[in-house]
Amino acid sequence: MGLLLTSDVQYIKGVGPAIGQLLNKLGLYTLKDCLVFFPREYDDRRKLPCVKEVECGDTVTIVLTIESMSDKKIKKGLHVIEAVTFDSSDWMKAVWFNQSYLLKVLKPGLKLLVKGKVETNLFTYMPQINVSETEILRSLEDIKKSTGVIIPIYNLTAGLYQAQIRDIIKQSFLIGKTLIEDNLTSHIKQEYQLMDLLPAITEIHYPTSVENYKKARYRIVFDEFFFYQLRLESQRIQHKLIAKTNPLIHTHILINQYYQALPYNLTNAQQKVISEILEDLRKPVAMNRLIQGDVGSGKTDVAIVTLLAAIESGKNGILMAPTEILATQHYLKIKALLAPFNIQSTLLKGKMKKREKEESLAIIESPEPCIIIGTHSLIEQYVSLSNCGVMIIDEQHRFGVMQRIKLQDKANNPHCLFMTATPIPRSYMLTCFGDLDKSIIDELPPGRVKPITSLISEELLPQIYQKCAERLRLKEQIYIVFPLVEESEKVDLKSAVDGYESICIIFKEYRVGLIHGRMKPDEKNEIMQAFKENKIQLLVSTTVIEVGVDVPNATIMIIQDADRFGLSQLHQLRGRIGRGGKQSYCFLISKSNSEQAKKRFKAITDTSDGFKIAEYDLKIRGPGDVLGTRQAGLPQFQLADLLRDEHVLLLARKVAKQVLTEDPQLISATYQSLNKQLTSFTDTIIGQHLN
Ligand code: ADP
Ligand code: MG
Repeated sequence: MGLLLTSDVQYIKGVGPAIGQLLNKLGLYTLKDCLVFFPREYDDRRKLPCVKEVECGDTVTIVLTIESMSDKKIKKGLHVIEAVTFDSSDWMKAVWFNQSYLLKVLKPGLKLLVKGKVETNLFTYMPQINVSETEILRSLEDIKKSTGVIIPIYNLTAGLYQAQIRDIIKQSFLIGKTLIEDNLTSHIKQEYQLMDLLPAITEIHYPTSVENYKKARYRIVFDEFFFYQLRLESQRIQHKLIAKTNPLIHTHILINQYYQALPYNLTNAQQKVISEILEDLRKPVAMNRLIQGDVGSGKTDVAIVTLLAAIESGKNGILMAPTEILATQHYLKIKALLAPFNIQSTLLKGKMKKREKEESLAIIESPEPCIIIGTHSLIEQYVSLSNCGVMIIDEQHRFGVMQRIKLQDKANNPHCLFMTATPIPRSYMLTCFGDLDKSIIDELPPGRVKPITSLISEELLPQIYQKCAERLRLKEQIYIVFPLVEESEKVDLKSAVDGYESICIIFKEYRVGLIHGRMKPDEKNEIMQAFKENKIQLLVSTTVIEVGVDVPNATIMIIQDADRFGLSQLHQLRGRIGRGGKQSYCFLISKSNSEQAKKRFKAITDTSDGFKIAEYDLKIRGPGDVLGTRQAGLPQFQLADLLRDEHVLLLARKVAKQVLTEDPQLISATYQSLNKQLTSFTDTIIGQHLN
């Protein structure tokens, strides 16, 4: 019986159960998986050098014939095979370290294709190649197969050889190519000059030229983006169709009172975003909106107004924060701001006394509408989300698309608002949040003075401390931040604790606080509260203060070992100062002198534009690190690269929107194939792994 795309890899000729298991380790379970297991890199063997042409230091692929050979065990754990070899141009010495299994096959007279680094051998004055990969060329057929072409190189797993996997992929191709279905509509292919799918996949495995490869890659990248966008967009349309919810009939009475109680006027950007939100809330369709605003742009007020709109319409408003510190801070702020209005609010904490918890639940369950604040897990755990009018999630980037949709389902489609301060570049926005409406707060409150950021070497710390002393005399406050990376938490913590002790000595007239992630939430809150009330003047901390913490009286931040932070993280940290209208200073202390570090620091000292910084950061560190490991929302593309291929993403998105405007359900004859690809990922070729 012929194989199907869904057939198990072990049935591919030459595979079997044992190798099948190795392939599974590489994520290859079906014939289809093998077809789109794209090479990690290529070995361009179209023109191989001869011995005379190679230079010391080069890594080359070269064809050699063995003249004579020997092997020896130099010491325990070091086995060497040496061979004198030649080609038509000259002699060369070939050396294999710790590859004794080759002894059985290497024989004088044998022709080999080897890859390795070339060195000069001081004793023989013959060039020497340290071989890392060996292929034996037994026949003319072998020579034809292995030279004069571009050879794909695949990822491997222990027990599997490159030549083996190459054969397996080739074999899958022979069987599978007739099964490949190209579901992209021909008019789209024509209009955007996209290659057909089979030739594209073939070219990716077996490139014939750089130009053809580029075209092929373009087609695959387009597919990856296009079908992902099609899915997001259609989900969005679906959501709009089914996400019927109660419109919030807000009276604006509380909201107006709140405006009046505020000591400042909202910025135009805040007002614009608020009116967009209030507009959404009036509709019988659940709001699904992301607010993006740089640190300090005033997202909290936007959140509060949104919560008030829920209360005005007799519903609960829920606010979720990523950490308990932030939840507590929001709670205290909201409680204080809303004190005059007689609005019930409550905080859910990880550890609550029985009585506290009962009180909290009584507030939540009473018919009186209230504001509930906590971390996501707490709220998911304790609260029936049924009377929820609005759900706000702060620092949205910390969780993924699918997780978000689950939560919305559980809460019966309330109006949802997501807020993020990590500026996410456009391509990431479109990929991860393509199904959200977006508002941007693109203006900071007036009177903000941007922090002056400078890079300081450690020896100058005494001068910085002098500056700190001046500021402290003016009753201003100071943050001193130490890095904390998980791998070496203990060492890091020690440096923060040591730092704390020396700061205590240097600034003995002042009160110094220490805060870090290992402390209990209550202890942390206590310290934060004391800092807020200026009972503590210097706060030594690890990165727990990274997001959202708001103490406008703090004007100096010293960041120790700044090279160990990501740029976006530094930007977030620096966002903690300069909130009160006075000139503030951020000092980055670094021991690193590398060019790379200098370049990175230049990016952050020169600009205060969080978007630019994030973009730069993404280029250097990649999305996983920048958005945090918890970011589960990023799809895994096989070839597409969000930054490099942004233009393809934009095109794919445009086309996906066009298609869905014409035919939202994808039921017309023209678009049926697209629908098929969307609904069945198993029997189509390019499907993404969705998180
Ligand atoms: P973020 O967007 O980082 O969450 P916050 O909402 O914490 O920012 O606001 C930062 C600071 O700016 C707070 O101290 C807040 O009271 C203040 N603020 C917010 N909006 C305005 C405004 N329109 N004018 C002046 N200060 C404002
Ligand atoms: Mg905030």
